[in-house]
Amino acid sequence: MSSELRDLYQAVILDHYKKPRNFGALEGANCEAEGHNPLCGDEVKVYARVEGDTVEAVGFEGSGCAISTASASLMTQIVRGKSKAEIAAIFERFHTLVTGGTGADPGDLASLGKLAVLAGVREFPARVKCATLVWHALLAALERRAEPVSTE
Ligand code: ZN
Repeated sequence: MSSELRDLYQAVILDHYKKPRNFGALEGANCEAEGHNPLCGDEVKVYARVEGDTVEAVGFEGSGCAISTASASLMTQIVRGKSKAEIAAIFERFHTLVTGGTGADPGDLASLGKLAVLAGVREFPARVKCATLVWHALLAALERRAEPVSTE
């Protein structure tokens, strides 16, 4: 990765950390779930408004590091209007991206849009949980699981 690209990615992450999108309890939410990452201290609560099989809107609140907050903020934007199956597929590709799995290919990277800015966490295995926490919470919310999820 070029240093210019790395700087750009860093700037996007900081922007979403300082000004998280869709932050706060979501009006009309019909499912929610909490997530904790004890390793880093990240706490997140995810709200979703689901109509049929489509996720109309997602919001989140909580406190966490720059990676977990930026990941949550970016997630709320990319999942909007998607079906549960589409969201599960996006998470699958995102997970492969941040864990450096062999299944990642450039086409997948392009399909992830801005989520690609988090690709750098693959160099820091402890931060992978920061990046994926909010996704685990969202999937739990969509399954309407009552108990909080933990990365441990
Ligand atoms: Zn974290």
